[in-house]
Amino acid sequence: MFFCPLVSGSSGNATVISHGKTTVLIDAGRSGCQIDETLRDAGVDPKQLTAIFVTHEHSDHVQGVGILSRRHHIPIYATEGTWAALDLRGGVGKIAADHRRCVAVKRSLDLGDLCVTPFTIPHAAAQPVGYRFLAGRDHVAVVATDIGYLSSSVESACVGAAVALLESNHDVDMLRNGPYPWDLQQRILGKNGHLCNEDAGQLASLMIRAGTRRLYLGHLSKDNNHPTVALHTVKKVLKENHVIAMNDCKISVAKRDLCSESFHDSF
Ligand SMILES: [Zn+2]
Ligand SMILES: [Zn+2]
Repeated sequence: MFFCPLVSGSSGNATVISHGKTTVLIDAGRSGCQIDETLRDAGVDPKQLTAIFVTHEHSDHVQGVGILSRRHHIPIYATEGTWAALDLRGGVGKIAADHRRCVAVKRSLDLGDLCVTPFTIPHAAAQPVGYRFLAGRDHVAVVATDIGYLSSSVESACVGAAVALLESNHDVDMLRNGPYPWDLQQRILGKNGHLCNEDAGQLASLMIRAGTRRLYLGHLSKDNNHPTVALHTVKKVLKENHVIAMNDCKISVAKRDLCSESFHDSF
């Protein structure tokens, strides 16, 4: 299995996962050209993409989805609610009927060498999901960003993953003392907002205990977080929970504008 966050942050998100003959993109929240470029930087030919999975309709996740689907003739998978929201806002432009595919929560989908299971995430969008990918018998990769709080659905999807991109959006003190107006702060901190560094650390503790070997912290706020703060806080929580980080699990912050160092799992 190959896993690589291409861009990650409040200004755009995309991750590529590949196994055997199947290569999928999860979100494409930058221009088509930028995504193509980061794919090539990751060593992936954009033409080899099998599908794009969309988590939700916010522009930091869908900006390049339509253009990539039209350019490379690839289907787009999203929940019914996300499709309705995209259609309402014209979020992905015109998509050929046979490239519009629906996914449903907890309903696994076999796509070549990957088995994909969408799971519910608590976030202020029409019908947002995270994705869990099964490669082979038991090798799991998860993309879980835009999470208001650690719901049981998020926890059970993430625990057991070998590799994951996990939201570590903000430092609560930086957000509280930062430039955002009070009501926006409340929305980010709310149950349908974004995951703070501390909570990312709590989830990371559960995941590492269950055997996660590679963790990317992502979707960092530009204004209310910093890579060193996110990493420090997550490690502090791991220490408090008596989980030794970095020993068996490598943790890093996914890069905002460039592809991150990829993870390979040969089995
Ligand atoms: Zn969002
Ligand atoms: Zn987002």
